[in-house]
Amino acid sequence: MSLIDLFHKLRRFVHPYRLLVVATLFLTLVGAFTAQVNAWILRYAVDSISAIINHGQGLKAGYTVLITITCILLGKEVLNTFVQFGQKYFGERLRILVAQDLAQAMIEKILTYRVTFYTDNDNEAGRLQTRIDRGIASLTRLVQIFFIEILPLFANSIIALIMMFYANFYVGLIGLCIIPIYFYVTHRQALKLGSWRRKQRDYRETKSQGIISIIESIMVIKSFNREQLESTKQLTLQKELTDNQMKTRHISFVFDGIKSFIEQFGVVLIIILTAFLVLNGQMTIGAIMFHILLFSNVSAPIRQLHRIYDEMNDGLIYAESYFQILEADNEAEPSGQYINKNLKGLFELKQVNFTYPNGKQALHDINMRIEPNKITALVGLSGAGKSTLINLLDKFYTPDSGQIYLDGVDLAEYDTHFLRENIGLVLQRNHIFNGTIEENIRYGNPNADFDTVVDAAKKAFIHDQIMLLPEQYQSKALELSGGQQQRIAIARMFIKNPPIIFLDEPTASLDAIATEQIKNSLDAIKKDRTVIIISHSISQIIDSDYIYVMKDGRLMEGGTHEELYEQNGTYSEIFNAMARSLNIDKITDKIGKIQNK
Ligand code: ADP
Repeated sequence: MSLIDLFHKLRRFVHPYRLLVVATLFLTLVGAFTAQVNAWILRYAVDSISAIINHGQGLKAGYTVLITITCILLGKEVLNTFVQFGQKYFGERLRILVAQDLAQAMIEKILTYRVTFYTDNDNEAGRLQTRIDRGIASLTRLVQIFFIEILPLFANSIIALIMMFYANFYVGLIGLCIIPIYFYVTHRQALKLGSWRRKQRDYRETKSQGIISIIESIMVIKSFNREQLESTKQLTLQKELTDNQMKTRHISFVFDGIKSFIEQFGVVLIIILTAFLVLNGQMTIGAIMFHILLFSNVSAPIRQLHRIYDEMNDGLIYAESYFQILEADNEAEPSGQYINKNLKGLFELKQVNFTYPNGKQALHDINMRIEPNKITALVGLSGAGKSTLINLLDKFYTPDSGQIYLDGVDLAEYDTHFLRENIGLVLQRNHIFNGTIEENIRYGNPNADFDTVVDAAKKAFIHDQIMLLPEQYQSKALELSGGQQQRIAIARMFIKNPPIIFLDEPTASLDAIATEQIKNSLDAIKKDRTVIIISHSISQIIDSDYIYVMKDGRLMEGGTHEELYEQNGTYSEIFNAMARSLNIDKITDKIGKIQNK
């Protein structure tokens, strides 16, 4: 991305605050003029004082000079204080407001992205966060540079340069020559540093991803005693990062030295030339100080320009990533227009194939009919494609080929927001947000009153346990056990009250009693709804009205428990394995003995 592109992209973020920009620019321009005052005053002071001395006059004659100098310098400083305050305050205000808008724009945008965006390896949580955070920091810095700093710096330099030419053409020429040389060296430096900086970005991202993954897997790391292994992994990464940092510093220091030399060389030239002109009688002695100060007014902003140039190049790298994420329009979730107020919930899948972005084909030629008012169970070994199928029905992914119809209308034509409003999804591991139990349940319906929240908790058989907690519904939901959190998620679905319900192993992390209770309440809500349940629980499978059996992404069989069992196919194989794992023989034996007593 070029600087011009970036400037255009940033304009829309700065536009609402253009008055701030104008105010700051005005103040900085005033500042640029006041910055030249010292040079003039110094020349005036040196010339006037040496004239007084040459004329053999004493301190008395110098009073006017001293008073004039004091008044002008103090007046300038007072003005400068206001100018600098205004400049900093408005500039900072602009920076903070733009940062806020950039962050919000990003959040609003990524929320609209498809699930595949988040599952992409390049977008792991840590990487994405580093990229966004640094992007925003860089961009706000760029806003400051583009809209607040560059122009005044140029103004400062140009005004000083004009004054140098005004003083003497050759003196001006030296000032003028320094600028392109400085620019050239700075440009070379930036080119040399560019690739190293990019590498540094990658290292930083990987490093923060590494720390996140350590935190997430801390129990596993500890239980396997792999602290040393993890630490070595991080050390290798850290070493690469350090080498890279040293290399960038090395390049920077070399170029900084060259630039410093060029500047000092300029000062020497100015002194020699002015001294020559003074000795030649073309100028007064005050000109030496005058020219040196003007030259430093030309070079000081240019020296900053190099810092800005560096920051801009640094910023560009992250700004580029920020806009890549913000403008990933192909990641936007597709949505149709269709809304059906009387959704029945009949799903039909016709020759559906689906491949994950990493190339793994998870569904092959699926034909299925999922009836409303019934519980349909998806059965199959782990990895068979059951969750993938549900993800397709929820429009998290779109099939490669084939069609999915809901009440006879292609799912693609449905308004995605409307569709999800009508689907309740309970996963094996549900996300509980940082907040109270009440807030977490109400997430299912933000308009629900407290009684409705309690009602939903009762249906999910969690109310009694909540009431035992010291802060009851105001307790932190994240402090609940896995099984309790699961029931909060089920309550969340009850409060949403959707006509279509997908349950992906909803009771896998629940104890036997809770499973039994949840089963009852799920039975109660299946009326007038479409319920699809993925389950490894024999009782849930037997209780469902229709069963589809999947294996390696293919649909093997479909029917009721009795029908399928008699077929002696995949279902009976899985069912028998489940029964054996439960040790059904011993259980029935035991129950038989108890009953015979
Ligand atoms: P099930 O729910 O039956 O256990 P899944 O639908 O989760 O199976 O997975 C089906 C296949 O798709 C598996 O081989 C799994 O590895 C693969 N898979 C699942 N999720 C992803 C993903 N996000 N990216 C790539 N492959 C995936």
